[in-house]
Amino acid sequence: MRRPLTILISGVGVAGPALAYWLHRRGHRPILVERMPQLRVGGHAVDIRGTALEVVRRMGLVSAVRDARTQIDTLSVVRPDGRRTYDIRLRPSHETRGDHDVEIMRDDLVRILFDAIAEDVEVVFGDWLCAIAPHENGGVAVEFEHGSPREVDVVIGADGHHSSVRELTFGPEDRFTTHLGAYLSIYTLDNALGLADQAVLYNEPGRGAAMFTVRGNERAKAVLLFRSRPLDIDFGDPGMQWALLRERFDGMGWETARLIDALPHAHDFYFDEMSQVKMPYWSKGRVGLLGDAGFGPSPMSGQGTSLALIGAYLLAHHLSNTADPVEALALWESGFRQTVTQNQDLATGGLTALLPASRTAILARNQAVRMLPVLARLGLGFGGRVERASRAVILPD
Ligand SMILES: Cc1cc2nc3c(=O)[nH]c(=O)nc-3n(C[C@H](O)[C@H](O)[C@H](O)COP(=O)(O)OP(=O)(O)OC[C@H]3O[C@@H](n4cnc5c(N)ncnc54)[C@H](O)[C@@H]3O)c2cc1C
Repeated sequence: MRRPLTILISGVGVAGPALAYWLHRRGHRPILVERMPQLRVGGHAVDIRGTALEVVRRMGLVSAVRDARTQIDTLSVVRPDGRRTYDIRLRPSHETRGDHDVEIMRDDLVRILFDAIAEDVEVVFGDWLCAIAPHENGGVAVEFEHGSPREVDVVIGADGHHSSVRELTFGPEDRFTTHLGAYLSIYTLDNALGLADQAVLYNEPGRGAAMFTVRGNERAKAVLLFRSRPLDIDFGDPGMQWALLRERFDGMGWETARLIDALPHAHDFYFDEMSQVKMPYWSKGRVGLLGDAGFGPSPMSGQGTSLALIGAYLLAHHLSNTADPVEALALWESGFRQTVTQNQDLATGGLTALLPASRTAILARNQAVRMLPVLARLGLGFGGRVERASRAVILPD
């Protein structure tokens, strides 16, 4: 073990606590700072696949994660009047699929990761970085909106898609994001349709509305997706986002009006653009970017959480085994970048499947879905690509 480092991590989502866990375990002193006054809730189910599940196993959290996994076993694609076009079995059974990958609500995963470090790591809620600069002693000088300035050895931005560490260190967001041509909203509502361990998806050209149950089936989550060129959106103004969703989903069939009516009552409203973060490099000096902040693949890839978990493990490994943090950050990036690219490339397939752009594309998607079991048996198709991408990296011990 090299000299213990004091490492400031911005963001208590998935990547931040996972990195703090591994750094603490290797004898370093991580400090987490989260902009929200408490853990940020919200979001859909996220997948922990392949190598990422091995990271969770090494954290001793596999049982906790499996116990909290979602129970949804069927996705029904429906017509405007709610009749089913077809059902997709999402897994043979909860027990067998659990060996390979785990689907879990983002909230539950964030809570499990946070509980694993809460007693050992300093966590500051309700504050954020407003200045980052090289310190004359060789470390990094940081200033907070509320707290006192500090000097640390390394700063890691794990503060998500709209990372302010990225903005402060590398420049404005639009230089590093690639818009995928769609927006996504997710929020909790009553399970008024009486769904049982089920997800329902309805598409019209360029628009998708879905509802799926959360554990126990008492509550459900609504998902609204629409294709669009980049819009000028104030992400801090939910009222503006509700108005936009009302306008975009006006007149849509199935139960969409019910989903829209529930918008103002949601305690965990989430709205974001579907875009990917592509940086020419993930670090500058002793400041690095992890997870969505540095290489967000977008929810359409289904791999953001797995990349955050694997990236955290590998980054802690390099920071612990290389004396110079700048070199450690460079080694981490050179070993992991290809895996990230392979996973980011999955996003377009996800968008085509969930949000077909035309009536013809909806019909083609429906036909293709019927072939899925055959393709899966042959290890081909989108499932095969996801499987290969999720195992593309080998973890050092
Ligand atoms: C509310 C929410 C819902 C999501 N829903 C989905 C989903 O349904 N499907 C999906 O695939 N992915 C979703 N994601 C993204 C998914 O969590 C990530 O792709 C993945 O888990 C990688 O996590 P991350 O830790 O890099 O980023 P995130 O999970 O986004 O975590 C970033 C954390 O940083 C905090 N933060 C932001 N700015 C600052 C700042 N300036 N200072 C300090 N802290 C800051 C945020 O509040 C958040 O807690 C969601 C993210 C959020 C925040």
